[in-house]
Amino acid sequence: MDAMESLATESRRRHAAQAAKPIVVRGAPPLPMRYCGECGNPYWPTRQDQDFCGTACRQNFHKRRYQRGAELYDFAMDWRGKRRKGGFTEFCRIVDEWLRDERDRRARHAKIREAHQRQIKGGQ
Ligand SMILES: [Zn+2]
Repeated sequence: MDAMESLATESRRRHAAQAAKPIVVRGAPPLPMRYCGECGNPYWPTRQDQDFCGTACRQNFHKRRYQRGAELYDFAMDWRGKRRKGGFTEFCRIVDEWLRDERDRRARHAKIREAHQRQIKGGQ
């Protein structure tokens, strides 16, 4: 076997090895439908870690988180800074109010989800 023949054989062998590799498809497959964590409406996510239907809902969720965090910060600084009595009771009142708000939101989301499921099944 001369040098040229050897190169041709090597090229053919490499080409055959490449053809045997599995073909990888780029991007993600369509993800299953989800319900938005903020408004409760159904949507098709474009990313695996997507929790909200859009920018507005994502921003509303985080805005509320930051506002509540700031409220708690101000309260804690005032409570411990001035050694106020009844601070823990007030702390519980604030958090309980947020928990009620969260429960109401989840109940609204459940209603939307049920209505949407009925719609999918063709009823009402
Ligand atoms: Zn939403």
